[in-house]
Amino acid sequence: SNALVWLRRDLRADDHAALYYALRQHQHVSVAFVFDTDILNRLTDKQDRRVEFIWESVRALKAVLQQAGGDVLVRYGCAAEEIPRLAVQLHASDVYANRDYEPVAIARDAQVAELLASTGKTLHLFKDQVLFEQDEVLTQAGKPYGVFTPYKNAHLAKLNAFYLRAYPVKKYFASLARCAPEPMPALESMGFSRTNLHEMRLPVGLAGAQQLFNDFLQRIDEYHEARNFPAVKGVSYLSVHLRFGTISIRQLARAAFQLMKTGNAGAATWLSELIWRDFYFQIVYHRPDLQQGSAYKADYNQLPFANNADWFAAWCEGRTGFPIVDAAMRQLNQTGYMHNRLRMVVASFLVKDLLIDWRWGERYFAERLIDFDFAANNGGWQWAASTGCDAQPYFRIFNPQSQSEKFDPQGKFIRKYVPELMALDNKAIHAPWQLKGDRLFAPKVGDYPLPLVDHARQRALALSLYKNNVNQK
Ligand code: FAD
Repeated sequence: SNALVWLRRDLRADDHAALYYALRQHQHVSVAFVFDTDILNRLTDKQDRRVEFIWESVRALKAVLQQAGGDVLVRYGCAAEEIPRLAVQLHASDVYANRDYEPVAIARDAQVAELLASTGKTLHLFKDQVLFEQDEVLTQAGKPYGVFTPYKNAHLAKLNAFYLRAYPVKKYFASLARCAPEPMPALESMGFSRTNLHEMRLPVGLAGAQQLFNDFLQRIDEYHEARNFPAVKGVSYLSVHLRFGTISIRQLARAAFQLMKTGNAGAATWLSELIWRDFYFQIVYHRPDLQQGSAYKADYNQLPFANNADWFAAWCEGRTGFPIVDAAMRQLNQTGYMHNRLRMVVASFLVKDLLIDWRWGERYFAERLIDFDFAANNGGWQWAASTGCDAQPYFRIFNPQSQSEKFDPQGKFIRKYVPELMALDNKAIHAPWQLKGDRLFAPKVGDYPLPLVDHARQRALALSLYKNNVNQK
């Protein structure tokens, strides 16, 4: 019998649940990826690193499957219509895909299932992108967790070799449908053009993911200490690969789990980050209203943010006058990536220093981040804005200067992205405004702006904004 595997955020050919089950059940399995116009048409910037990353990764995957006698059929159009159409053309009785947890994707999959059913075909969905799904780690009362630590403890108590084993896909490659290889459609034919992805030397595709992971394994021992310093190569840089599934979460978690068992503190901390990822996916599944812009905590829905559009533009463009914030925002604009510590710093700064609605920042990150993932992004923003599940309390407000002194002590990261401040010493670089009046200041700092706001003053305003408007029962 014939089947179709529909790839979405799982662009790899090994350890892949849907592909594995399809190959085991059917003799002729075709594989397809649709550049979905429902998503692409919403992107206003037609130079988008994510589209290029996907394009490169699909191209690499095509080469792997072509070598095995199959192919990835690449289509451009509305996926919810293309997939049922392709299933008819290929005489596929069944369509296999890996489950997605965002409300928008769940609705799309329901639509596809219905269309398929109308022609007697079935959509099968599998757990693949998470270690545990929405209903696998619940409280004793059978409710979803809203606090991370007990969730993590329950997750770790359940995690074992069974859940971490890889799906041995290659063993069943003989069931791939033989077909004449199709050429890869050009990026330009879909209205997109190349970005600076190659200049960034971000390794793409399956091979790129393995390369990054092998590199990280050499450093994982120090992860718990190095991960907070943006100028240090301390993190894995795997988020974009996890986003598009060019690497399996099980492979990553298996390695971390085994190392953790030998007492490796870095691996234990890293595994905990992977569990945060699962945590936010299950939150989004259980709270579909989050995708409509709701605060996780209903009491925090009505905060009257000042929303100064000029300040927002300065934040987006990295010209707030706070060097660590500006360096981080410029990193985002230039590369599509931002270090986790800095995501927390700039998010807190936007909300609690500039008094701008966290949803504005969330939206900007969604446009720019190469690893943008609704669940983690919404979770991160609501954490910083104190509106989220297990968020930091509203009265905890990062001081951008002390964050900078602590996590970029030599100003190395700042100098990379804010070269105007290159010549300042390691103390002044965190707060150049404190040099005001120094006769050496003007020529050294050039066009670098004075700070938009006074942190102490804004902090007090933020405190009263929350205090007076959080609807505490
Ligand atoms: P590592 O430190 O090597 O971590 C490994 C993996 O664990 C990451 O790739 C990621 O998949 C997962 N992870 C780590 N931290 C978190 C976290 N806090 N929440 C969920 N998963 C996590 N991550 C995204 O993948 N997409 C986003 O859109 C996103 N937006 C964020 C917005 C804000 C405001 C904040 C504070 C955090 C956001 N994060 C997001 C989480 C985190 O910053 C990134 O996952 C991390 O910086 C990616 O770099 P890395 O792969 O080197 O991470």
